Amino acid sequence: MNDNLHTLRCFGCSARISGPEAQPDFRCADCGDLFEVDYPGWAHRQAQTRPNPGALKWLWRERRCSSELLDRSGVWRFRELLPILDNFGNAITLQEGNTPLYQLSRAGKALGLDQLYAKHQGMNPSGSFKDTGMTAALSVARERGFQWVACASTGNTSAAMAAYAARAGMRSLVLIPEGKIAWGKLSQAMDYGAVTCQLKTDFDGCLRVLLEIVREAPIYLLNSMNPYRLEGQKTPALEIAEAFDWNVPDHLIVPGGNLANSSALGKGFKEMKELGLVARVPKISVIQAAGANPLVQYLGAGVGAEFKSVEAHTRATAIRIGNPASWKKAARVVEETGGWCLDVTEAEIAIAKAEIGLEGIGCEPASAVTLAGLKKLRAQGSVANGDSVVLLLTGHTLKDADYTIDFHRGTLLRPEEAAGHEAVIDGLRRNARVVDATPSAVLAAMKDVPA
Ligand SMILES: *Cc1c(COP(=O)(O)O)cnc(C)c1O
Ligand SMILES: [Zn+2]
Repeated sequence: MNDNLHTLRCFGCSARISGPEAQPDFRCADCGDLFEVDYPGWAHRQAQTRPNPGALKWLWRERRCSSELLDRSGVWRFRELLPILDNFGNAITLQEGNTPLYQLSRAGKALGLDQLYAKHQGMNPSGSFKDTGMTAALSVARERGFQWVACASTGNTSAAMAAYAARAGMRSLVLIPEGKIAWGKLSQAMDYGAVTCQLKTDFDGCLRVLLEIVREAPIYLLNSMNPYRLEGQKTPALEIAEAFDWNVPDHLIVPGGNLANSSALGKGFKEMKELGLVARVPKISVIQAAGANPLVQYLGAGVGAEFKSVEAHTRATAIRIGNPASWKKAARVVEETGGWCLDVTEAEIAIAKAEIGLEGIGCEPASAVTLAGLKKLRAQGSVANGDSVVLLLTGHTLKDADYTIDFHRGTLLRPEEAAGHEAVIDGLRRNARVVDATPSAVLAAMKDVPA
């Protein structure tokens, strides 16, 4: 069986190469830019290899009731749109995807929006959207005969990579900056058997070392320069369109760190439109933390501006990225779909996260930038009455329990960060309290908490 229909096209100079020809760092040999997976067979309406939209919608829905392992994956269920393997039998899956789409009624009411939803990618096997990308890229690594995979990360990428590598019977290497360890996430990499090395440098330093290693040793790089990760990460766009009965929402709001995920979702919607699966695409907006906002600065600087990296500071560690690899792809998604790119403060993130918690859902701090950003888009009139909105929640609330506890204890934010938000924060805090071991003391404690 030969399912493989893809080529790699350089995002900078449009040079085209076959998948196995890519350099170990996935940069274009001519211009140094990133590649994008491309399916030339889809370009012509009459082409034999062009998928038929009506048949696909039916097939994808049927697969949800199938007992085949590949069909039960919310990524590989859509495999006609990611023909990246020579044989789909090589796919490594943990039954990722098929994540819930929740209505946010409380937040929707507060914002005057009847149709506000959260697509919760934190409900994936390792607790973040990174699983959808990892099932795709690690399967390619396995098919090409690699025994080792590696990434530089302190967080969700390493957790996802280690899980899928373990599943495949492969070895994984995680490089992390010494002293800047997100323990909750790193514990997963350890549990899944990764070799974890702490280097005396920052994230960029770890990546530099890793790039030298993959040039010398047969180790497959799984950082988000790897274009196959984006093929898996585009599938939530398909799930969203399917959930809306192929009438897409007006807005999709995504957190921006390395900017691969917003790029991937934009690619998913674009391909669906080109193939006639949907008639239009949502406006895709990217929200960054104010202390790690290089895309906001770039798009705000106007035509001809140069992209500049920043020194990143935010407690939303998953988006603490100053030099995002996929900025060019994400900038194009925002521009082509008519979305916006803006940033939110530490207090705004913390408040939004607590509000999502009160919906019974919860998420990582990095995911909460979506609701914080929506409030701003609503205030500036970019999201209108009657618009339907989907927030992409990227990670599970238990990934970063320290953050949540610090918020409720009141130790998360410095006074100058909380300035102007004190009343709202006090209304959201639910710190555990010490009360006497008597019914009357407990009943009294129940009375003085906001509803
Ligand atoms: C990786 C990650 C992000 C950022 O995604 P990018 O593709 O790097 O922009 C946001 N939230 C969570 C929870 C993540 O793990
Ligand atoms: Zn190029």
